[in-house]
Amino acid sequence: MRDWLSGIRRDFHRNPELSQEENRTADEIERRLKELRIETRRTGTAVVGMIRGGKPGKTVALRADIDALPIREETGAKYASRREGVMHACGHDVHAAILLGAARWFSERSAELPGNVKLLFQPAEETVGGAESMIRDGCLENPRVDFVLGLHVMPYLDAGKVELKKGTLNGSSATLNISIRGKSAHGAYPEAGVDAVLISAHVVTALHALVSRYVSPLDSAVLTIGTISGGTRTNILADEVVLGATLRTVDDRVRDVLVDRARSVVEGVSASLGGSGVLDVSYGYVALINDNACVDVLAAAAEEVLGPGSVVWKEKPSMGVEDFSFFLRERPGAFYHLGCGKSSRGICAPLHSSKFDIDETCLALGVAMQAAAALRFLEG
Ligand SMILES: [Zn+2]
Ligand SMILES: [Zn+2]
Repeated sequence: MRDWLSGIRRDFHRNPELSQEENRTADEIERRLKELRIETRRTGTAVVGMIRGGKPGKTVALRADIDALPIREETGAKYASRREGVMHACGHDVHAAILLGAARWFSERSAELPGNVKLLFQPAEETVGGAESMIRDGCLENPRVDFVLGLHVMPYLDAGKVELKKGTLNGSSATLNISIRGKSAHGAYPEAGVDAVLISAHVVTALHALVSRYVSPLDSAVLTIGTISGGTRTNILADEVVLGATLRTVDDRVRDVLVDRARSVVEGVSASLGGSGVLDVSYGYVALINDNACVDVLAAAAEEVLGPGSVVWKEKPSMGVEDFSFFLRERPGAFYHLGCGKSSRGICAPLHSSKFDIDETCLALGVAMQAAAALRFLEG
């Protein structure tokens, strides 16, 4: 399959599309699946493929995200992006190609297959989280999915290796939008107004006490206040200051405690100084928590198809987020990292960078991993 996979991946790579605009990509996926005589269902830019086994059994879902990023490619590769300012810098071209490879492998063997394989081609991983809308749309039903598997390429690992972790692999995120209201007045007569800049300074300081004082030192959380703006002139008391922050935790309960506390701080500190504060939270992705037994299945599959010593165990979770977590909230399964680098040839630029590229041997290895793992689930 190597050349076939490389051709598909390079085609996606040349034609990257931003989140929720993956029309050409979804068309191409659908066309390829139909070519393999696989039934498909399309909703927007999401594509679900269904391979029904010749024998009864369970249903395993394999997921690939398909969107690209607003980055100008600087790899100089002959298959570099043809779309100015858009690039597959997170390897989702690779994920889509690998899933098409697994689709081909299973479709050619469907008669002997003890169960079904569902293929989830998911849009908008990088922005709004296409996983949630696919789940709402019923991608885990009819037939009901028993297990879900997903992977992400990782350039810090050489092709031929996989990185696994039991339990929590990725944290959860929340965006905090804070608005502090005061009352404007001349800077020489502060007693006539309420200074929103001063209140915001106290709010920032108090918010930075939350992780230190309301999270156990054995748990993890980070709060970063990345934006602040307000005021019009040096000699006018600002009547409004707006702040923006991101909150990352590995445990959703810790996240909820911190959001509650942050709200008390914003409202309480502002009120105590004569102003008012409002905290608006938009919840991002939930924490990604692997099923440990499913991770054992992945480890066994890796030993089988990639060879002994191919598994690297990840010690700590990442505070980065991944919306595969929503599938894992619904069904048991696991997410893992597939090596795509080749350090000896300098292929190791990080994800989301303009120089990100892969060693294409990871394509066939990814197909082998997905196929071997899915088969183990189907065979019980
Ligand atoms: Zn990404
Ligand atoms: Zn990604």
